[in-house]
Amino acid sequence: MQIIRVENLRHIYKTASGDKVALDGVNLSIDAGEFVAIIGTNGSGKSTLAKHFNALLLPTAGKIFVDGLDTSDEKNFWHVRENVGMVFQNPDSEIVAAIVEDDVAFGLENLGIAPEKIRERVDLALDAVNMSGYKNFAPSKLSGGQKQRIAIAGVVAMQTKVIVFDEPTAMLDPQGRREILSLVKRLHAQGKTIIYITHFMEEAAEAQRVFVMERGKILRNGTPHEIFTNVAEMKRLGLDVPVAAELADRLRKNFKLPQNILTADELAEALHR
Ligand code: ADP
Ligand code: MG
Repeated sequence: MQIIRVENLRHIYKTASGDKVALDGVNLSIDAGEFVAIIGTNGSGKSTLAKHFNALLLPTAGKIFVDGLDTSDEKNFWHVRENVGMVFQNPDSEIVAAIVEDDVAFGLENLGIAPEKIRERVDLALDAVNMSGYKNFAPSKLSGGQKQRIAIAGVVAMQTKVIVFDEPTAMLDPQGRREILSLVKRLHAQGKTIIYITHFMEEAAEAQRVFVMERGKILRNGTPHEIFTNVAEMKRLGLDVPVAAELADRLRKNFKLPQNILTADELAEALHR
């Protein structure tokens, strides 16, 4: 079942120095429960697209449907927001309260939910991100990865069907990155639809499907194997590929190796043979 559909989406930013076309005819659809990654060089339009998924931005032209609802129709606004949560790059700019549990509760308080229900949902959400022990902490005392998990708990508490992540690990150290990625995989396993923007190709390789953006368009859409084993094209686009795919590509100059190598295990297996 389709949960997101984007049709000929154009987005133009009006600036003092003229119009800037950020999205130039995007078409895509995402099924409920899918885990998709979006990659592309800086300025290719990823963040602009992300903001359309929960009506933070509205189309200049074209349409976007969330759970069948046209995001540009004002009467759908709240329902779209109830369906799609967003996690951004900088956890510091997402945290709004002085105590962790208040921060996680923030989005719920605007929905008119009873206080004891809110506490219940906050506890569940903190548990889901492995941060139950930090309920009464000041977010300022937490590491970047922990802050990002609190921001994710805030979205989990909203119980949206879809979570959009816009480079959530960009400001984290490797440990923090691993924590977030394993949390994202867990949320997917629990049934969430995940839209994951990243410039870490190893992270994108964990998705079921990868969209490659360039200049406001979706240039490619395929499985991680389809996308990342085309090393020459990724290079041409100024994008990296996961290390094992890169190594396999170099080794092919001297060894006969199969084309579809993406992971370290696949490379080791091919070399063994
Ligand atoms: P990405 O997330 O892939 O780096 P963005 O969606 O942020 O790309 O940006 C796409 C294009 O739109 C870029 O050329 C960027 O400079 C431009 N852009 C983004 N936000 C604004 C804005 N608020 N005003 C004007 N131009 C913008
Ligand atoms: Mg961006």
